[in-house]
Amino acid sequence: MAAPPPTQPLVLTFEDARRAVEDHASHLAPGANETVDLLHAAGRVLAEPIAADRDIPPFPRSTRDGYAVRAADLSKLPAKLKVIGEIKAGPQQVPSSLNTGRAFSIMTGAPAPQGADAVVMVEYTSLQGDRLDESAIALMASVGKSRLQVFVRPRIAVLTTGDEIVDVDAEPGPTQIRNSNTYSLAVQIKQAGGDPVLLPIAPDEPRRLRQLIEEGLQSDLLIMTGGVSMGRYDLVEQVLAGLQAEFFFTGAKIQPGRPVVFGRVMCGAGAPARGASAPVSKYFFGLPGNPVSTMVTFELFAKPMLEALAGMSPCPLVFLHARLKTDIRIKPGLTRFLPAILSGKYEDSHAELVPWQGSGDIAARSRANCYIVIPPDRDHIEAGEWVAIMLR
Ligand code: AMP
Ligand code: MG
Repeated sequence: MAAPPPTQPLVLTFEDARRAVEDHASHLAPGANETVDLLHAAGRVLAEPIAADRDIPPFPRSTRDGYAVRAADLSKLPAKLKVIGEIKAGPQQVPSSLNTGRAFSIMTGAPAPQGADAVVMVEYTSLQGDRLDESAIALMASVGKSRLQVFVRPRIAVLTTGDEIVDVDAEPGPTQIRNSNTYSLAVQIKQAGGDPVLLPIAPDEPRRLRQLIEEGLQSDLLIMTGGVSMGRYDLVEQVLAGLQAEFFFTGAKIQPGRPVVFGRVMCGAGAPARGASAPVSKYFFGLPGNPVSTMVTFELFAKPMLEALAGMSPCPLVFLHARLKTDIRIKPGLTRFLPAILSGKYEDSHAELVPWQGSGDIAARSRANCYIVIPPDRDHIEAGEWVAIMLR
């Protein structure tokens, strides 16, 4: 099969590429709902609005062990009050009111007697579209929700390409590489709330590559790795062009990860994903094959699409700032996301690059706990300057 020619390169700045992804993500609808037990809902995305059935705290209560008093009785000090009883936390009657000159000994969590100074009460209503972390689960428990409606996790197909790639159980030949991208992506997909669907390794051969891409397009999102550079056997874009794909970008001015590709294919009757009834568009990413590039470009571009399919409200990228520990000299022109270590004490955090051999260096990435983000107009950053940090 003769592959059609590749599309014109469409290389965007980091900001424009990220905006393109966020724009498409904002139009995505999440999948169906399912009902799960409270603990199984941890890490899932809430699909129903929750209304509190009572205030928190639900009654005026003491926040400490001490004495419940009337404030007016203590307007002149010293004052002498008579302790007329003890109030402890538990299923008991709310104590009778507190008269002038009297006090109760009171324990933390116990109901305050009428007349004592009240505590502030809070009401809350909705949480929908957030991932349920431990504090959200605590909130759900406090309003009596033992079962919750959550969105079904989106299915994310992972397709790695390359004649040199062998699976983890195979004994690699002297010029072969074990497949690590499928596994790093599966972990990132799970962490972002998706359900990874692992496809077999695709060779650098258009017919089989096309078959596997068509299979991948049956999931909610297809993420490929490798085969998106300018080499003669980088066939991913050609095969996608043969499926009448629409490309939103075929590169971003970043390092690592420059050849990253984002687009969509119409699937339906007579179109790639056989079996689908009405035509539907499926998004895909072609991530560069170098393992650190794969991880970085997933984080920067694929994650927002996955989160939208999972029912989450869009989360902007968050950058921290820290002082640079050692000078950086770099060629300008690209936004760089370089593996780094953030460390330090209270009020004195600093970051420095991890020495690395380039975007194939998985060991350097695993020693790092963040990326230092360098804007494209900088060629030199001196020790002591504030730099942007993206946590990994
Ligand atoms: P490519 O993007 O196909 O040009 O691949 C770039 C580099 O990443 C090459 O050195 C590949 O051998 C390597 N690579 C590609 N896919 C994988 C993978 N799944 N696991 C580990 N390394 C890979
Ligand atoms: Mg390749």
